[in-house]
Amino acid sequence: MATSSLLEEAISISKQFDISNDQLVAISEEFIRLTDLGLKSGGMPMAMIPSYVTGVPNGTEKGTFLAVDLGGTNFRVCSIHLNGDGTFDLLQTKSVIPRNLMVGTAKELFSFLAKKVDEFIKTHLDEKFNEERGHPANEHIYKLGFTFSFPVNQTAINRGTLIRWTKGFDVADAVGMDVCLLLQHELDLLNLPVHVAALVNDTVGTLMSRSYSSPRGSVTKLGVILGTGTNGAYVESLAAVDKLDNSAAALADKSIMVINTEWGSFDNDMKILPRTSWDDAVDLETPNPGYQMFEKRVSGMFLGEILRRVLLELHEKGYLFPRSSTPLTTAWSLDTSILSRVEADSTPDLVAVKSIVEMDLGLPTTLLERQAVKLIVEGIGKRSALLAGAVIGGILVHLRACQSNPVVDIGVDGSVFEFYPGYEDLMRVALKAVMGEDESKIRIGIAKDGSGVGAALCALVA
Ligand code: ADP
Repeated sequence: MATSSLLEEAISISKQFDISNDQLVAISEEFIRLTDLGLKSGGMPMAMIPSYVTGVPNGTEKGTFLAVDLGGTNFRVCSIHLNGDGTFDLLQTKSVIPRNLMVGTAKELFSFLAKKVDEFIKTHLDEKFNEERGHPANEHIYKLGFTFSFPVNQTAINRGTLIRWTKGFDVADAVGMDVCLLLQHELDLLNLPVHVAALVNDTVGTLMSRSYSSPRGSVTKLGVILGTGTNGAYVESLAAVDKLDNSAAALADKSIMVINTEWGSFDNDMKILPRTSWDDAVDLETPNPGYQMFEKRVSGMFLGEILRRVLLELHEKGYLFPRSSTPLTTAWSLDTSILSRVEADSTPDLVAVKSIVEMDLGLPTTLLERQAVKLIVEGIGKRSALLAGAVIGGILVHLRACQSNPVVDIGVDGSVFEFYPGYEDLMRVALKAVMGEDESKIRIGIAKDGSGVGAALCALVA
């Protein structure tokens, strides 16, 4: 084994994940250019989807709302009681969607969803619950926010036709249909006092949730997801959304609109994003090579796999690990939480790294090998945070957010941001490179539960 130059090799790999301040500025400038283009043109190359949400909460909102979330294997039903002081009470139930309904008919799927709402109301929103909140059960009509995490063509706050299913769903007769109307129809058949008031993207929900709960006196401008995937939604001036018919009656007295950027697909053309051979290898393993190129360098779904690719190559070249193992050679076997745990180990002997590599890769290590693993992890994690910071900075520069506000607030949801050690500090390095001293005006906070409280807030402002 060529361990004598292992550390040199690891340092040189880690350097390939470095991004200079000049590059960060160039990335944010390209991001702003594509943002502008996306607001003008019909969705290319960055989707920049108008959410039809034309107001953001300030924390004083009150009331009880329903939210449902269909995004994968589970269907969540929640009630959210907003207390009017930035806090809320949330009740929720979760049901697994039966496999046969994921590939059956629209009628079967949406009547199942409506039945779950019915059960929820009967169990949790009984008369006592309503009386406590001053609503006689049979008189109150609940506004419901519907988080639906599949591609839709949204045409109003509670109108959107399904473009296609993803994530294992294939309910053919729902494609091209309005998913809000499908749900409303089934709720009506059960005589439920529920109005589907908003169709909600989870990133928009994150922005709304943070805007409600952020400390008073600040303005929340941006909601960010840094979890399995990454995305951002921000508050845009309605006049800037060129591709919308701003003269439409429903928008006549409105001045802002929340835009879902879909920034995961920023720079799919790879004009400006950093690129390593390991990124290319991971991209080729995905079902959509050449797409979501920003996301593939930033989000939790991919960082573990980038690490595995680097380690495997070092092993194959004879630098690392005396033998191979199934996790080392199996695509997608390393979870991104491994990077967090490695990053957190500051012991001189890297004892945590030793047990992580033993447990998760099934391999013994020397100290030198553990140091190499740590260097590589740091490179991959740092690049993710710097890229996230560069596009966040890009949006804030585009909005001139710091010129008119003493504190600009950002809400973030997702395990990568929440648990990766030092992630915010690294994001701030990029923000500083892009925004200079204005970086100090940015407050970043966790925004919990965009698809629950955020969806409720979209229903409220609808
Ligand atoms: P989701 O985005 O699916 O709603 P999360 O925000 O929990 O859910 O994100 C899940 C992603 O975060 C997964 O890709 C997972 O690998 C990654 N992840 C989970 N725990 C950690 C951690 N401690 N540090 C970094 N990434 C993590």
